[in-house]
Amino acid sequence: MATTIETMTRDALVERVGRLPRVRIAALPTPLEEMPRLRAALGPDSSSPRLFVKRDDLTGLAFGGNKVRHLEFRVADVLAKGADTMIVTNVAQSNHARLHTAVAAKFGLTNYIIKIPSKKDQPIQGNLLLDHIMGARIIEAESDDPAAITRHLDDLIARLHADGHVPYAVPRDQFSKIAGTCAYLLAAVEILGQLDILGASVTHIVMASGTSTAGLALAGKVLGASYRVHAVSVGGSREMIEAQMLGYANSAAELLDLPVRLTAADVTVHDDYVGERYGVVTAAGLEALRLTARTEGLILDPVYTAKAMSGLIDRVRRGAFKAGDTVLFVHSGGLPITFAYGEEIMESLGGIARSD
Ligand SMILES: *Cc1c(COP(=O)(O)O)cnc(C)c1O
Repeated sequence: MATTIETMTRDALVERVGRLPRVRIAALPTPLEEMPRLRAALGPDSSSPRLFVKRDDLTGLAFGGNKVRHLEFRVADVLAKGADTMIVTNVAQSNHARLHTAVAAKFGLTNYIIKIPSKKDQPIQGNLLLDHIMGARIIEAESDDPAAITRHLDDLIARLHADGHVPYAVPRDQFSKIAGTCAYLLAAVEILGQLDILGASVTHIVMASGTSTAGLALAGKVLGASYRVHAVSVGGSREMIEAQMLGYANSAAELLDLPVRLTAADVTVHDDYVGERYGVVTAAGLEALRLTARTEGLILDPVYTAKAMSGLIDRVRRGAFKAGDTVLFVHSGGLPITFAYGEEIMESLGGIARSD
């Protein structure tokens, strides 16, 4: 059970986060919908919790996703620091790289992607295709060796400075790391307000782990909310994810002078749905992708949201939630990735279905 002591009101939390510079990009509030047919597919209602989904895949910019919320704070920081160029380092199917490229276009900045090689470099599809369309400047790193990436980053920063530019290196900026956590403090308030209108309350929130889940958990603790956050790892051990989440949450709590700190007891991290590793599909994830699509017309991506949903589904089937529980799944986006995994997805569907 989550803490039930409210140490701040929702208004006070919104006011506190409101002290940070922010630009408005995201289409908010995103819808919050019920998933009755997915619930029915998982068992009789008496044994399955009521299921809701927060549609943060619909945040608006360039195929949306959770990172559009983050960018409202990060771009404000970029502008406040007088930067004209952003640099990210990531793989071809990175939502992070796609959305930095989109926001750069929107604000007249330049975005460089130091691109780490991966199996999804060819054919050019999904996020990488969108990066090209939106004019990203792509530097191909020869390997995923951290030392090589650091060298590329150092070289690019030096070159940009020499040319009179002001670069903002996203992986190195201290505030940048917790922009997502700050943004999801507000997302939590948005969710609670929408549930009030529906006359519902949630006992569990399930989402792919990261800076966003740190924000949801921290907000839950500050507000004495009734939910527990389940952060589902899509790559990385429980210990590592937990340590990162506490780090993000408590840096944000310090920055915003919040009256609480997050501890390991406040969140549940699951690392049993990763499969082989980040970016490699799992059978359970592909089943979650198919089932959610065929019961709710809701599309998940195979790398983040399908794995997170496979965790939710597995826990419902194993009876890990109690009768009377209500579970909210946060759809964090990632949709372009789906198109880069057509082969794996078709294989899991048993090939092309014919009706003749
Ligand atoms: C990046 C990402 C996440 C999780 O990481 P955050 O640090 O919270 O952004 C989850 N889902 C999707 C689709 C993402 O792109």
